[in-house]
Amino acid sequence: MVELLSNPYEGVDWSSISVHRANLHGHSDRQHGERFESAIPPQEHIEEYKRQTDTTVLAITDRAFSDIQDPPEPTYPWGDFESMDGPNSESYENVSPEEVGLIPVLGRENQNDSEGNGIHHVITLFTDYGSSLDASNATSELEVFEELQEWEDGRFVDTWKEYDPIAWLAHPGRYHNANEWESYLDHFNAGSHVIGLEIWNQGLSRYDRNDEKLWDVLLSNLMPDRPIYALGVDDGHCWEEGNDFDMAHVQLLLSDCSAEAVHRSLQNGWFHAARHDPVGAIAPTINFVDVDRDEQVITVNADDYETIEWISNGDVIHHGRSLPYGKMEIYNYARAVAKSGTGGETTTQAFGFPSKDIEWTFQLSRKPLRTLPKRAAKAILSRFP
Ligand SMILES: [Zn+2]
Ligand SMILES: [Zn+2]
Repeated sequence: MVELLSNPYEGVDWSSISVHRANLHGHSDRQHGERFESAIPPQEHIEEYKRQTDTTVLAITDRAFSDIQDPPEPTYPWGDFESMDGPNSESYENVSPEEVGLIPVLGRENQNDSEGNGIHHVITLFTDYGSSLDASNATSELEVFEELQEWEDGRFVDTWKEYDPIAWLAHPGRYHNANEWESYLDHFNAGSHVIGLEIWNQGLSRYDRNDEKLWDVLLSNLMPDRPIYALGVDDGHCWEEGNDFDMAHVQLLLSDCSAEAVHRSLQNGWFHAARHDPVGAIAPTINFVDVDRDEQVITVNADDYETIEWISNGDVIHHGRSLPYGKMEIYNYARAVAKSGTGGETTTQAFGFPSKDIEWTFQLSRKPLRTLPKRAAKAILSRFP
């Protein structure tokens, strides 16, 4: 008999939450200068999400550039767009979040050069880290994570000083393949504000297809001690063909329509990652995850799905809505993926099971088959609070 050691939804009051669709990584023309003609002002970015999707939570995460803005400022708050610098700033218009019915989130994408070739990009929310030139001169993503832990300066500190920042690794496949997973172990030792990684950046169509595998191999090595949450994001830059957005999102479990509730959900892993490409594909919505510890069964309740697969250590271990874990041998973690059959899928976060060294293999989309020994990451985990 196997024991369920951690439930990512512990503490969720399912009777009072609703599922909110969020895009937490995207860009306006503020960061692009003349580079992309089809980049659009921030108010139009918001308008397109409002007009074309069911999004209710939005973060515009323009990068910490210094060649356009000096010092670089986040594209926030929405009521101040008219006073912000940008290549087309004369056309910027303020937006009232209440009037458009969206929850605005302070965020940015951190990098250290204007072409995007420097450090591994890091998304930070609920902090103005990166608004000083010193911060955007970080020499590694690990340095960003470590500085973020100590970050106390800035004009948003009054609004968010009670809240830890939220950070994650953007599009890992741009920098590393899943077989280089060991290079990420230190990142998840930098603090609990480092919540996870993007497994879907515009679905499967961009960068690399191994980011979901990277998540699985990290979970296999770090669970049940250290949860790592998966995110899906559009990371939209250009809007000319209508295919740079509405391909991935997160489904936040919110107790109310506030940025505070968004923060709570992200910090606790109360959300699901979804992809839906090509454009028009439907991603299942996961509404409810029931954990019956007496019967030793986890059940996923979703809309718009055709199949549900349960994955552990990179393998599909079970099919169907319910996982009877008490009758199975499960180690490290298990997660459920609901699939629509039309190019949409939505994953739960990972449930923790007893740790065990397991050797498993996976196929990289661009590399030969590799055999991965489980690395006991105990030295790192012992330092993690
Ligand atoms: Zn990026
Ligand atoms: Zn981006």
